[in-house]
Amino acid sequence: LMQLSVPLNFIGFIYREIRQGLTDIENMFDLLDVDQEVKDKPGATALQVAEGAIRFHDVHFSYDPARPILKGISFEVPAGKTVAIVGPSGAGKSTLSRLLFRFYDIQSGAITIDGQDVRDVTQKSLRGAIGMVPQDTVLFNDTIFYNIRYGRFDASEDEIRKAAELAQIGPFIEALPEGYRSMVGERGLKLSGGEKQRVAIARTILKAPPILILDEATSALDTHTEQEIQAALDLVSRGRTTLVIAHRLSTVISADEIIVLKDGRIAEKGTHRDLLDAKGLYADMWDRQREATEAEERLRIARETD
Ligand code: ATP
Repeated sequence: LMQLSVPLNFIGFIYREIRQGLTDIENMFDLLDVDQEVKDKPGATALQVAEGAIRFHDVHFSYDPARPILKGISFEVPAGKTVAIVGPSGAGKSTLSRLLFRFYDIQSGAITIDGQDVRDVTQKSLRGAIGMVPQDTVLFNDTIFYNIRYGRFDASEDEIRKAAELAQIGPFIEALPEGYRSMVGERGLKLSGGEKQRVAIARTILKAPPILILDEATSALDTHTEQEIQAALDLVSRGRTTLVIAHRLSTVISADEIIVLKDGRIAEKGTHRDLLDAKGLYADMWDRQREATEAEERLRIARETD
């Protein structure tokens, strides 16, 4: 029996390793929301990013042919600028970011980066050039170190610490009993939404991509966390072409341009100031959101004084 126990233990070990590997791959597909239907075209070349200007030309898209989601969307994110997409829930904001990554192919029109159609370049080079801070970051069942290093595997420990500092998560990690060696994910320490998002920001800082997509969290974070995250995001997006998918409006004020999406079309565009002056859809959304925030604040103060 003793003779059997060693190989059995070994098989157990291999089994656990494979399980872990599979979980990580599943997480990765979740993380990327990958549609594996999209293939590189024969002879696809690597994307060459000179400046990182993004352009959507008359893009039509539907997940299901019976229900068009985007009905002719055209806009540009000039190199190094920040454009925010806002609009009602279900308007197709996150869809735009999935299309830029080419998780799906569009039905007509084109999406280009520095003039190269995303369908003509390799997916690997395309995804390598774009950093994504998603709404809900999936963490691997591994250490915080590993989770940040995922942004760039050859990063040194120093670089990882620096990225965590910039992402405003450094002090939090240092205060954990095992610091950067703490295990996180499903089987480790459960981090809050805001903490996970800062880990994702640290990853992105390490990756240092020329193009950035920030998919803002739908759920409200407390004001302090939100300010910390905002500061970290401002830092990563500086000098990078950035597309902000804004589910709330607090992050869009400083964007170079705001695009209001409604019923699959661009309803309005301009700066925060322009759009408030126009007294249209954006101004309405802004008023409603401000009222909601003020009501929440009053409720919080009432609870605190009870
Ligand atoms: P929110 O602010 O609520 O996150 P959004 O503007 O980002 O909304 P999208 O996630 O882009 O909206 O979704 C746009 C529409 O496409 C929605 O009606 C949604 O139900 C639909 N949709 C999204 N993903 C898929 C999918 N994988 N298959 C089919 N329909 C989808």
